[in-house]
Amino acid sequence: MNDYIYLDNAATTKCSDTVLEAMLPYLTERYANPSGNYNSSMMCRRAVEESRAVIAEMIGAEPEEIIFTSGGTESDNFAIKGSMYAGKGSENQILTSKIEHHAVINTCKFLEKEGFFVKYLDVDRYGVVDLYQLQSSISKITRMISIMYANNEVGTIEPIEEIGRIAAYYGKVFHVDAVQAFGQIPIDVNRIKVDMMSMSSHKIHGPKGIGAIYIRKGSSVENLLHGGEQEYGMRAGTENVAGIVGFAAAAKEAAENMGNNFIYVSRLRNHMIKRIQNEIPDCRLNGSLVDTGRVENAVKARRLPGNVNFSFAGISEGSVPMMLDAVGVCASSGSACSAFTEGPSHVLEALGLDEKLAMASVRFTISTDNTPEEINRAVDELKGVIQQMRESSAVN
Ligand code: PLP
Repeated sequence: MNDYIYLDNAATTKCSDTVLEAMLPYLTERYANPSGNYNSSMMCRRAVEESRAVIAEMIGAEPEEIIFTSGGTESDNFAIKGSMYAGKGSENQILTSKIEHHAVINTCKFLEKEGFFVKYLDVDRYGVVDLYQLQSSISKITRMISIMYANNEVGTIEPIEEIGRIAAYYGKVFHVDAVQAFGQIPIDVNRIKVDMMSMSSHKIHGPKGIGAIYIRKGSSVENLLHGGEQEYGMRAGTENVAGIVGFAAAAKEAAENMGNNFIYVSRLRNHMIKRIQNEIPDCRLNGSLVDTGRVENAVKARRLPGNVNFSFAGISEGSVPMMLDAVGVCASSGSACSAFTEGPSHVLEALGLDEKLAMASVRFTISTDNTPEEINRAVDELKGVIQQMRESSAVN
């Protein structure tokens, strides 16, 4: 039993018991290098290939189109750098959005320093990418479009199918960062016409340090890591066998329980949102919310099932997540990677919030590990924290 309430499941999740059980043999007796020629190596090799098939099946891909990586960050780097380095000289522009994860934004910034061009597209007040601006920005210099499936801070699900159609129509490479959507909502790489897609294990109750990238057959991508011939010669390095097996176990569990998980988690989310809206004055829900109830309608809901993100007027100092931490509630100010950096979230700014409101924000992300009692206790604590912060802001 924890003595705190963990509501930061978009940052990372607890490994499930099934995942731990699946991994354990590969951390103990089955430790052989999968590239070896003896029987115990073959067993590890088989485990890697079976895991690859699980991930592939979940997204409608072929097993050879799945490359294991160290996680979402590496997959994003691989997709964007790999595709741009492989491009022809005249196609040197990336179109992305202002609300991407830093794994995408900072990769793009790095490429700008190398002479590539990047256009950061606007989003509306709910965080939805401007499709008109996207379409009108495409030109002969555009090589790729990189848009996230769902945003990690405000939970907005992007119109990925429409973007895929646009990318295919203009013949541009399409990359999707699906780190937050994978395992939460159904994904079919052919329906969304994606060329490359990033996934991560630790967001879905799998281990940290393992993820995958989907690379459509025939795509032209430069390797990030050079060395051995592992992963079809596309990603060198001895495979993280236990991590790969754990990732597949987590993905399988997520796929099998997706419908029920969606209903359970989105009910907790709706309850939390309603209580905050009813009981804390002058709050603003960030992101979109149309309650569609079932996972089949998730895309219409435009919000991930577990995401709750609010800003509170009348606070001019302090940090809501830090105050919550002091009373035993783990929440975040948005991206885990920006929690301790100065300044407001780039996502909330892109949604149009002013700096003061953006700084007085908190993100809760719920998983199946959470209970209704935890949600109620967290809201009770939040009420106290906001009142206290408003009082101290009014005095100072
Ligand atoms: N992309 C998104 C949307 C994320 O939310 C994250 C992690 O928070 C990442 C990429 C990076 O994934 P990883 O932690 O597996 O490197």
